[in-house]
Amino acid sequence: MGFLRKRRPAPQLDSTLWPETGESWSPDGVTVKERYYNLAHAVILVFTSDDPTNIYCTVACLGCHFVSTGIGRGTYHQRHGLKDAAEAANAHATSCHALRRDLPARPDDDTVREQLHQWASNSRRMDGEIQLFLSDLDTSRLTMQRTSAWIETALQQLATDQPDLMRAEPCGYSGRLLFHASRRPN
Ligand SMILES: [Zn+2]
Repeated sequence: MGFLRKRRPAPQLDSTLWPETGESWSPDGVTVKERYYNLAHAVILVFTSDDPTNIYCTVACLGCHFVSTGIGRGTYHQRHGLKDAAEAANAHATSCHALRRDLPARPDDDTVREQLHQWASNSRRMDGEIQLFLSDLDTSRLTMQRTSAWIETALQQLATDQPDLMRAEPCGYSGRLLFHASRRPN
């Protein structure tokens, strides 16, 4: 916790006039590891998803649209561990002036299913099928607000309903479901 920003005194405001903007928010599917405050008291979260195979952290500012999953681009992208994520959150906290805003609303089930359909569809490649990793959804978890188990069930249903789009099969080793987006047609 060496990078934790010194917590400022809580503003003395009526909680009915000052709704929760992230101080204790923990949406479905996300485990919040640390919280930071920017210069205007907006909350910055360091979180992991509840997918037990995902060891990486994501940083997201609830005041602006800053989100960071790691450093470097493309194949050189190195995902954040907790220490790197804390450094990125702290660096953002010292430069961001965004005001607090309302938390993202929880979407309905159909909206999230459509989002997963889009994700699978956009992931398709011409040169063959490609494995879909739940960790690739990390930047969407604060808006999706669904557990990994819910997402896996939805993806499994999608594979059943649209076998041309994707398939699901249990991993022979762990028994967990693995998801693959089908090859994009020419
Ligand atoms: Zn920010």
